[in-house]
Amino acid sequence: MSVRVRFAPSPTGNLHIGGARTALFNYLFAKHHGGKFVLRIEDTDTARSKKEYEGNILQSLKWLKMDWDEFYRQSERMGIYSEHLEKLKAGGKVYKCFCTKAELDEKRRKCELMKKPYKYDGKCSRLSAEEIKTLEAEGREHVIRFRIEPGTTAINDLVRGTITFDNRELDDFVLTRSDGVPTYNFCVVIDDALMNITHIIRGEDHISNTPRQLQLYKALGFKEPLFAHIPLIIGTDKAKMSKRDGGVAVTDYSGAGYLPEATVNFLAMLGCSYGSNEQVYSLKDLTEKFSVEHINKSPAVFDMNKLEWLNGYYIRQKSDEELAALVKPYLEAKNMAPDGSKLITVIRLEKERLKKLSDIVENAGFFFTDHIEYDKDAYEKFFKNAATLALLGEYEHELRHMAFDKVSLEAFTRGFVEKKGLKLKDIVHPARLALTGKLVSAGLFEVMETLGKDVVLYRLDLPK
Ligand code: GLU
Repeated sequence: MSVRVRFAPSPTGNLHIGGARTALFNYLFAKHHGGKFVLRIEDTDTARSKKEYEGNILQSLKWLKMDWDEFYRQSERMGIYSEHLEKLKAGGKVYKCFCTKAELDEKRRKCELMKKPYKYDGKCSRLSAEEIKTLEAEGREHVIRFRIEPGTTAINDLVRGTITFDNRELDDFVLTRSDGVPTYNFCVVIDDALMNITHIIRGEDHISNTPRQLQLYKALGFKEPLFAHIPLIIGTDKAKMSKRDGGVAVTDYSGAGYLPEATVNFLAMLGCSYGSNEQVYSLKDLTEKFSVEHINKSPAVFDMNKLEWLNGYYIRQKSDEELAALVKPYLEAKNMAPDGSKLITVIRLEKERLKKLSDIVENAGFFFTDHIEYDKDAYEKFFKNAATLALLGEYEHELRHMAFDKVSLEAFTRGFVEKKGLKLKDIVHPARLALTGKLVSAGLFEVMETLGKDVVLYRLDLPK
C-alpha cells in the first residue's frame, strides 16, 4: 500500500501554527514512507473562505519548505459531491429536513437548559411523502441530512487506540445546506476516499467528526482510511494557544524573524518525540525519524523559550553573509541604510546575541542611524549629572588623538580611568549610553571601532 496523506485547511484565516504542525506531521509521514502529500483547500464555506487566506496558507507552507505533490480545491469539485449525494438519495440514506433556524435554536436552548448535549432529534426523518410534498409546495427551504444507522462506531486510532461511539450520540448531520452547498463532513469523506488517502492525520478536535464520517464511508461503500488524531497545542499557562503566546499565524513568526528551519524543528517536537534527547533536527532528520508511534496523547505545550533557543541556534549556523542578507530588510523597514561591509562587521558583533532576525533593529540599529533613542532612565541618571558629562567631555577630547582600533581603545581607556582613580565601568556605562542609547550592547571598544572616530566623537559630545 503506498502512503497518501493530506493537509486540508479551510481558508478562513491565516495558517495557524497548529495547522502548520498538522501539515508537518502529514508531510513527515508521507516522506518517511516515500508516499504522497496532498494539499486540499476546503473552501466550500463561501461566506468565510477568502482567497487571501488561501494565499497565506500556500506562502506559509512554502516558507516552511513543505512542498505538496498534488493540489485540490473543493470549490472546483462541486459536481463530484452532487453525484455522490444522488447515490445516497437513491439508497435512501438521506432525507430532507425542513426545520427552520428558529425551531432548531429553540431545541438547542432547551437542551442547554436541561444541561444535555444538543443533537438533532430526527423530526424530519419521520415525515411522510405527503407532508414533504406540502412543505415543498409552501416553498419551504430544506437541508439534506444523513440518516445515522443504529449501533456503534469504532475509530481505530493510531495514537489513541480504539475509541467506540454509541451511534445514538451522533445526530443525523447535514450534508448540504439549504443553498445546496455541501458541508465539511460530507466533502471530506468523498475527497479522502476518491483521493485514495490512506492515513488521516489531524487535530484531536476532529475526533467527534470521525464517527459521523465513518458512517458515510460505510453508506457509500468506501474503504476506511486509518486515523491518527494528534494532541492539541496549549500555551505555557495550559490554556489554548492565543495571541499572547507571541502570535498564532506562521506569518507572524516569519515576520518577526524566526527562521523556517527553527520553526519546523520546533513544530515537529510539539507532541512528538524522535527517539533521543537531541533538540536539533533538520527536516531531513525529522523525515527519517518520524513515526506515528512517537506521537503523544497529552497536549503539547508551546514553549516560546524553546523556539527562541532553537532560532538562536540556527541563526548562528548561518554564514555572516547569509545572515546579513536576512537581517537587512528589518533595518531597511526602519529607514536605516545598512551598507555591505559595515553590516558584515555588525553581524559578527551581534550574531551571538540575536534570538530573532528583527532583534537586529533593537540591538544594533544605532550603527545605521544618526537618530539615537536613549534609554530614558539611564539618560536621567547619567546625562543629568555634571561630573559624568565632564568626564565624557574629557574622554572625547583625548580620543581625538587616538588610533581607532579596539585594542588601542581599550588600553587607552583603562589608562584614562586609572589616572583618575576611577573604575572602567565609570566610563563604559555612560559612553555606551552616548554611543548606542542603551546600557547593554556588544563590547564597547568593538562598537567604537565599528562606528569610527567621527561618529564616536560626535555622539560623545553631549549638550552640557
Ligand atoms: N478543513 C478542515 C479544517 O481546517 C479539515 C479537517 C480535516 O483534516 O479533516 O479543520
